[in-house]
Amino acid sequence: MTSKKETPWVSVAIDGPSGAGKSTLARAAAEKLNFIYVDTGAIYRTVGLYALRRGADPKDEAAAEKLLPEIRVAMEYAPNGLQRMLLNGEDVTDLIRTQEVSMTASAVAAHRAVRTFLLKMQREMAETRSVIMDGRDIGTVVLPKADVKIFLTASSEARARRRWLELQRRGTPKEFDEILQETVRRDADDANRAVAPLRPAADAVTLDTTGLNFEESLERIIEIIRERIGL
Ligand code: C5P
Repeated sequence: MTSKKETPWVSVAIDGPSGAGKSTLARAAAEKLNFIYVDTGAIYRTVGLYALRRGADPKDEAAAEKLLPEIRVAMEYAPNGLQRMLLNGEDVTDLIRTQEVSMTASAVAAHRAVRTFLLKMQREMAETRSVIMDGRDIGTVVLPKADVKIFLTASSEARARRRWLELQRRGTPKEFDEILQETVRRDADDANRAVAPLRPAADAVTLDTTGLNFEESLERIIEIIRERIGL
């Protein structure tokens, strides 16, 4: 548990590598607890999509920084509660889910200027309501005073297998080995970057979902949250 509460709102930070089940679990937990779910990866993906469209090298910090004044990122909630991402007014929610955007998002997310540009909007989301926010640096940087911090992880193989199944379900199958390689590479990039690297906060509870199914993982998450906030 972190320091004294300043607002009546509860904040839950869930961080971890790609494919650990963060978004599906965080969304389901938020629904159960009647909190808002904020997927911060979608924000970086939106910036990544813009860089791709502009043909900018996402690894080039100066090139990425130059794009920022042209970008307006907004997050909205549809009547069904699902988060929608707007890029300069265009709904890009479905366009940001490709593997190409994943890799570009990870590259632009390594730049300090990009992270600073997106920090305020993430913090504001937790100021006026109870939230479960997922990402890579929520417990360490975005909401360092979060009431509950969970670091969700699983073996690379288990995470790649989930992604492989998801792509099959979506009708866009891909070779397992290729997915595994990309998973390992993106996590290494996220964990080894200088700014806001992927790592558990000192006061985070680590939950390894390798041997757990969805229901078991969700149950554990709800338990951790209830224990920590005394619900
Ligand atoms: O979570 P998701 O896979 O959608 O995130 C896409 C990329 O955005 C990640 O690989 C990571 O580089 C970046 N990201 C981040 N910090 C966050 C959320 C996402 O750097 N809080």
